[in-house]
Amino acid sequence: MVNFVGAGPGAKDLVTIRAYKLIASAGIIIYAGSLVNPELLGYANKNCQFYNSAEMTLEEIIDVMSDASSKGIEVVRLHTGDPCIYGAIREQMDRLDSLGIPYAYCPGVSSFCGAAASLNIEYTLPGISQSIIITRMEGRTPVPEKESIESFAAHNSTMVLFLSTGMAGELSHKLVSGGYAGDTPAAIVYKSTWEDEEKYVCTIETLEETAKKHNITRTALIIIGDVLMQGGYKRSELYNPYFTTGYREALTGD
Ligand code: SAH
Repeated sequence: MVNFVGAGPGAKDLVTIRAYKLIASAGIIIYAGSLVNPELLGYANKNCQFYNSAEMTLEEIIDVMSDASSKGIEVVRLHTGDPCIYGAIREQMDRLDSLGIPYAYCPGVSSFCGAAASLNIEYTLPGISQSIIITRMEGRTPVPEKESIESFAAHNSTMVLFLSTGMAGELSHKLVSGGYAGDTPAAIVYKSTWEDEEKYVCTIETLEETAKKHNITRTALIIIGDVLMQGGYKRSELYNPYFTTGYREALTGD
């Protein structure tokens, strides 16, 4: 059995109880060494073998899984954050399917949730934005033309950019040419929830300058949108005393 497990954004206690148990009982852990906090490996048992996937190809990873499966060894494939976002899990699952190796998926706390916690923000403020666009600048992995930064920027919603801090200058141009005002609030969160976390609130126009000043090129998220402002939003209707919900009658009168 192979378990794809979300390792959370960094802090070693930000994993689910299920993830903790799977790590503790694994015979082999293949972890994304570039981003997974090595302290999580401390939850493993003393006989566990470790493989750093940063140094491996997909074929090598599958070989380890397949060999373990033939010996009845439980494998944990530890991915940073939640594996469903830029985790490259589908290609592993497809190969396991073709080899007839069973697998399960244990979700984790994505770094975009970790970053909201670091900044104490809500991405979906009534009256400001009710949508989060999660995307990235094109790198070695191409981004489909229909998903250009400019086209997403036209929505002026909350946007979270993974894998893009090294291209902050180009990103700012695209965001502004797509429709955000240059002074729209922006934030850079580096190693959210790790002990050496850093976070900076700036504007779209000052993103590159802020990233350069603090020497941040990777392991960071860029967050864009007016939700980063203090105030300016409407209160929720759900908790409004003059609004009836399925669980509570509205107050009447003045
Ligand atoms: N599956 C992961 C994302 C993997 S892609 C998740 O759900 O978070 C790798 C990118 O994620 C990094 O380049 C960075 O943009 C972001 N990232 C991962 N961990 C991070 C953290 N602790 N703080 C800020 N950004 C992080």
